[in-house]
Amino acid sequence: MNNYQADSNGFYGNFGGAYIPEILHRCVTELQDTYLNVLESNSFKEEFTTLLRDYVGRPSPLYLARRLSEKYKCKIYLKREDLNHTGAHKINNAIGQVLLAQHMGKKRIIAETGAGQHGVATATVCALMNMECTIYMGETDIARQHINVEKMKMLGAKVRSVTSGNKTLKDATNEAIRDWCCHPENTYYVIGSTVGPHPYPDMVARLQSVISKEIKNQLFEHEKRDYPDYLIACIGGGSNAAGTIYHYLNNERVKIILAEAGGKGITSSQSAATIHLGRLGILHGAKTLVIQNEDGQIQEPYSISAGLDYPGIGPLHANLAEQHRATVFAINDNEAIRAAYELTRLEGIIPALESAHALGALSKISFKPDDIVVLTVSGRGDKDIETFLKYDIHNL
Ligand SMILES: *Cc1c(COP(=O)(O)O)cnc(C)c1O
Repeated sequence: MNNYQADSNGFYGNFGGAYIPEILHRCVTELQDTYLNVLESNSFKEEFTTLLRDYVGRPSPLYLARRLSEKYKCKIYLKREDLNHTGAHKINNAIGQVLLAQHMGKKRIIAETGAGQHGVATATVCALMNMECTIYMGETDIARQHINVEKMKMLGAKVRSVTSGNKTLKDATNEAIRDWCCHPENTYYVIGSTVGPHPYPDMVARLQSVISKEIKNQLFEHEKRDYPDYLIACIGGGSNAAGTIYHYLNNERVKIILAEAGGKGITSSQSAATIHLGRLGILHGAKTLVIQNEDGQIQEPYSISAGLDYPGIGPLHANLAEQHRATVFAINDNEAIRAAYELTRLEGIIPALESAHALGALSKISFKPDDIVVLTVSGRGDKDIETFLKYDIHNL
C-alpha cells in the first residue's frame, strides 16, 4: 500500500530530502532528531491543543454552504480557516513551531515572509510566548504589504528589509538561512509552509493536520460518515492543503483536488502553476518541481495572489501529482476573482485571494447530486479588498 507520507529521510517518492549547505548540517540534524519526540510528547500535545482551542478559536466551523451547493449541484461544506485568530491557517503552524523551539531551549525566532501573512502569524506567537523575533522580507514586498509590516512591528518583531535579488520571498528566504547559519545555537527558523529541507514539510503537515482531524469529526456529525467524496484546497507551498488531506491520504474513495495559481495563464509566462510548469530541481533545501528556465535558473513566478507566487511546491504535493493521487488545476487570476465575488454574493463570505483559487476549481469538476465536497477556505479576504476592487466585476 502506498502511504504517501515521508520516509525516514524525508522523501515522498522522488521528491523531498534535505539538500543543505554543510554549515546548516548540525541545525537541521538536531531538528530531524528532535521534532517527532516533541510533537508526540504529552506536554507538547497538551499545550498545542489548548492554544489552538482558546487562542486560535478551534475547531474552526465546517459550514454547509447551501446557496453555493445549489449552484454547483452537490453538497459543499466550507472548512472555515478564515475564522482563525489572525485570519488564516498559518497560525496553527506558527504556534506549533514556536512551542517546539521553546522545548529545544531556543531563545530567538527567525522567519521569512513574502506577502507578510506568515510573518504576522510568527510575530503574533512570539509576542504571546515572549520570544525575540526577526522577520526577513524583501524590500519590494515591504512596499507592497505595508499594513502587514506595521502589524509585525506593533507585535514587537524586527523586520529586516532584504535588498538582494528581486527583493521578494526567495531572497528573504536566502537571508533567513544566512542568519540561521550565523546563530545556530540560540536561533530557531520557523518555515511557513510544507517546503524546505526535511523535516519541515513533514513537520508542517503534521501541525496543520488538525484541519483534517476536525473535518473527520465534523463531517461524521453532519453526514454520519467521516469522509467526503472530494477535498479541495489551494496550494502555494502546500500547507493548508496538506492539513486538509492529511488524514485522508490513504482513503482512495476521497478525491483530492489541488488548485495552483495559473496567473495570466500557464502559457503566458506569467504564472505560478508549479506542478504544471515545473521541472525537477532543488529549491530551499528540497528536491521538488521548480519553475526554471533551460539553464536551471529559477524564474520569477507571477500570481495576483501574493500567497501563491512561490516557484516551488511542497514535495508531498509533487508526489501526489506524480502518483495521480491528486488532480491539479491551474486557476487563473480572473477565475479566482470571479469565484471570490461568487462566494461573497452567495454566502456573505469574502475569501482570501489564495482561497479563491480553490473556489475557482468548483466549475472545473462535474459533480453528482449526492457528492459531498469539503473545500478549505484558507483565509479571509480583508487583506485583498484593494485588489478585488480594481477588477470590474461586470467584465469578468
Ligand atoms: C500563505 C497562504 C496560502 C498559501 O500557503 P500554503 O502553504 O499553500 O497553504 C493560502 N491561503 C492563505 C490565506 C495564505 O495566507
